[in-house]
Amino acid sequence: MADVVVGAPRPVFWEELDLLGLSKTWKYPRSKEPLLWAIERRYYYRGDPVLDVHGGGMTSAPTLEFLGKRKLKLAPIDVASTLERNSATLETLENEAMEFVLKTYRRFRKRVDYTVVAFSGGKDSQVILDIVSRALHPDQYMVIFTDTTMELPCTLETVERVREEYRMRFPELQFLTARHETPALELWSKFGPPSRMHRWCCSVYKSAPVVRLLQQLKGDGTQARVLLFDGVRSDESQRRSAYARITAGGKSLTQINASVIQLWSSTEVYLHIFRRALIVNQGYRDGLARVGCAVCPFSSPGTERVIAQAYPKVLAGYRRILEAYATTQGAQESDMDMYLNNGDWKKRGGGVGIDSEGSRVDFTMGSGQLRATIKGCSKNEVLEWLKAVGVLSVSDWHDGVRRGTIAARAESINFSQWESVDASGGRIAFDAVASAPEATGLIQKALTKAAYCVQCGVCTVQCPTGALSLSPLVHIDEARCEHCGRCLTFVDKGCLRAKSLSTSQASIRPLGGSGMESYTGFSRYQTFGLRREWLDGLMIHGVEWIGANSLGNRQRDSAVVWFRESGLIESVAKGGIFQLTDLGALCQSKYVTAPSAVWGILFINLAHRSGIVRWYVTEVSLGDYTTSDLYQRLSATCGDNRSSRNGLTALLNLLKTTPLGDVYALGVAHGVGRSSSVRKLGGASISAAVLLYSLYRYAEERGSYDFTVTQLVNGEANGGPAKEFGLSREALIARLRELSTTTAAGYAHVDLLGGLDNISLERGLSAILALQRFWRE
Ligand code: SF4
Ligand code: SF4
Repeated sequence: MADVVVGAPRPVFWEELDLLGLSKTWKYPRSKEPLLWAIERRYYYRGDPVLDVHGGGMTSAPTLEFLGKRKLKLAPIDVASTLERNSATLETLENEAMEFVLKTYRRFRKRVDYTVVAFSGGKDSQVILDIVSRALHPDQYMVIFTDTTMELPCTLETVERVREEYRMRFPELQFLTARHETPALELWSKFGPPSRMHRWCCSVYKSAPVVRLLQQLKGDGTQARVLLFDGVRSDESQRRSAYARITAGGKSLTQINASVIQLWSSTEVYLHIFRRALIVNQGYRDGLARVGCAVCPFSSPGTERVIAQAYPKVLAGYRRILEAYATTQGAQESDMDMYLNNGDWKKRGGGVGIDSEGSRVDFTMGSGQLRATIKGCSKNEVLEWLKAVGVLSVSDWHDGVRRGTIAARAESINFSQWESVDASGGRIAFDAVASAPEATGLIQKALTKAAYCVQCGVCTVQCPTGALSLSPLVHIDEARCEHCGRCLTFVDKGCLRAKSLSTSQASIRPLGGSGMESYTGFSRYQTFGLRREWLDGLMIHGVEWIGANSLGNRQRDSAVVWFRESGLIESVAKGGIFQLTDLGALCQSKYVTAPSAVWGILFINLAHRSGIVRWYVTEVSLGDYTTSDLYQRLSATCGDNRSSRNGLTALLNLLKTTPLGDVYALGVAHGVGRSSSVRKLGGASISAAVLLYSLYRYAEERGSYDFTVTQLVNGEANGGPAKEFGLSREALIARLRELSTTTAAGYAHVDLLGGLDNISLERGLSAILALQRFWRE
């Protein structure tokens, strides 16, 4: 059979077959042309499936399953005739893409400072550079390669070859490199390994260096406005399939992204490369479907295997850090291969086990004062970050203390800062903060930044005025700072590193399917459910209530566990010292006016973080259940033991004594005595705030901000509003329509017309920030 291109196959070269160990079984030439096509991990020769590849990973080889004849003699694909047969399609795609580039350039050129081709050294960027270079004059655009310092050698080599080729063809073309000054390995130690939940590396090593480079080129300190031609394609992932072709402000406030080849398949990209004789990155010849960073929490085991085989030296440094991290998580030497192969490091939710290198901030609140002890920075850095909160006036040191005032958000807050021998950043106390909750939240963020900042550079990118600089030390130019708060609020805790190292998120685990490992920790509530009056106490009196209530010790411990798993409090010091989290403070400010919404938000977090609630959300469908029905189900999954009994009792108490049971109809008590049952009805009318928070929590869990109603309803992934609140498709669509009439429409875009069921959230916005924004607007 002739070479037939179906679906979106990728070409397979002899190097990949060698790495799979096929040279002993198949005969094939070391040709420049590809030998087969592959769709994911199935290989096709002349249209027929010949091989499936299974398993494997960073430390183990995959298994090969031969389909049909085991021994094969391969001849190279006849690329010329394949191109010939597809020439009309390729020409149409190419012409359309060039026209798109030209029209987009004309449309935006007066609104931007620079037009840029984002070049990564991968196949898609090769194609867009080729197309843009034929549509525009070389002085109308520039090329920027983002070197994440985690690039594979094959990519660096490709970039240099392409740079040289374009330098020869277009001497006037600017071909620049954006690179962070600190190598990634160094920041891996300071932030902890990136994980699916903590993708700090994308902001630090991809977005920020490009924005900074353009800011420097512009020269006046403000951010450059940019039209960026990128290589985003719909067929790369479900997430990307929902992107618009032109998006403004999505990745950076001042950036317009235009996806030149958005609808091309990967096969069409390869055929264009062959047709135009563009350079093929060696990584593709080695078998990588996508070339990117050497280690990435989103890489597939197949990709990790190829990199481990072809570029072991590059992997070594990262592997050492991953192994050291695995050890802190209890992995033994003998477990290490399995730990790496399973990609367990990718599931990291918090910073437990990661050395914070002395960075720390402890807050206490009492008598209307916010007190903080800060370690890991100088006292002057503390004041410097506080300038972002408001206008600062400070006295000189006098007897080891200096006093000052911050004028912020129409409030004037006095503070005192002490010199002390045990805390580099000193102790600092702010008076009368109870009447200024918003400014207090910003102060906490500023102090957290002071303690944790390692000058990763992401904050400067947030600053629209150029007031903030980080090198050699943090400096905020008071004449330029507008106290807009962007540098303080763009991420939970105000600092990407503090978020990554936060131990309050350590218990967040991805929602799993069925299985004991997904539903654990049932006994930590003893048998107590969270009670309405407990939440009243916390929300009305703050964390002081925890130490000043009439509960016995066991109930108090149970309440603390429920509050922590609800995401409302976090521990700030040993010995039971707690503070409200950002979410806790936000819920506190809304509790009196919107208590049901707070219960809904709390339940969403429990569905993600509490083993027993997760089990109830995931495994128990709508219906009537006696206690014994539920116990049978629970014990079938998690074992017939005391822990399961305790967990179920705690859950039933939670449903019985809080609005979750009746208002949200998640467990309406029914009947009496032995015939009593719980009716899980679901379908309650959840508020826009609860829906928004649930959608963003779902997105955070998946690491994808674009999904569909169908995915939410069918439960292709766990979590999400349909599953958490028992909503039918119709009910969910009705709620989404309501959401799209609110101010959240701009960052929770719902497209339900013409049979579409797409939901697109703002990438990079966290659940808490989305909620904050919604409740403030
Ligand atoms: S304060 Fe900003 S620049 Fe400093 S480490 Fe945190 S996110 Fe990076
Ligand atoms: S982002 Fe806003 S608050 Fe922060 S330094 Fe810049 S202008 Fe000031």
